[in-house]
Amino acid sequence: MNKTEMLYEGKAKKVWATEDENLCIVSYKDDATAFNGLKKGTIVGKGSINNRVSNYFMKIIEDKGIPTHVVEELSDRETLVKRVEIVPLEVIVRNIAAGSLAKRLGLEEGTVMSHPVLEFCYKNDALNDPMVNTSHIIAMGFATREELDLISKYSFQINEILKGILEMDNITLVDFKIEFGRMKDGTIILADEISPDTCRFWDSRTSEKLDKDRFRRDLGGVEDAYQEILKRVMGNK
Ligand code: UDP
Repeated sequence: MNKTEMLYEGKAKKVWATEDENLCIVSYKDDATAFNGLKKGTIVGKGSINNRVSNYFMKIIEDKGIPTHVVEELSDRETLVKRVEIVPLEVIVRNIAAGSLAKRLGLEEGTVMSHPVLEFCYKNDALNDPMVNTSHIIAMGFATREELDLISKYSFQINEILKGILEMDNITLVDFKIEFGRMKDGTIILADEISPDTCRFWDSRTSEKLDKDRFRRDLGGVEDAYQEILKRVMGNK
């Protein structure tokens, strides 16, 4: 499958059209941004790690019955995916309070939530991705109630699947962000990526951060943390 025109260049990925109107090629970059683009940098090797780790997680999720956009990993950095219209929501699932939740509710980072927490933010850089609830989403036409019910169900299921895989590698899944897409026939599928850029991963024994917070918070050892996730999750797969 060959790339034709570039459809979109985001902060961490480029998306290309292909000769097949129903397929795209995603190309992962080493560029890193945080705080809505205010902080910029490079994390050497990130593109390849995120591509491989995300595809690995999505394959397992697909095998458990949740449809995903992944078709085939083409190379270290590139993956063939189904073409979708992205539902303009960042869907966040949280097991442990961190980041904006800790701040908003005055919780100490590391507080275990008694039940997984589901949040939606409207994907809009100019508005700083504001949090929205179900009635905002329906009233704004971002998704229908039926779509949102399915997205919510899938998101909690994905949380359980990922927690299970990661526990075996001594990684605690603190929280993560996912995005969904709509295919031409209306089917909702998991899209975007699942990687150390979009999840908080803590070492289960030491609580060391093994994710993008090392970049956001200038903690150092950013590349090593991404490599560690690749090694633990994929081993010699
Ligand atoms: N997240 C993301 N992209 C965003 C915002 C958040 O991937 O634009 C992820 C982030 O990595 C974390 C989770 O969503 O795993 C919850 O992030 P939070 O709302 O705490 O925001 P942050 O602390 O990043 O501002």
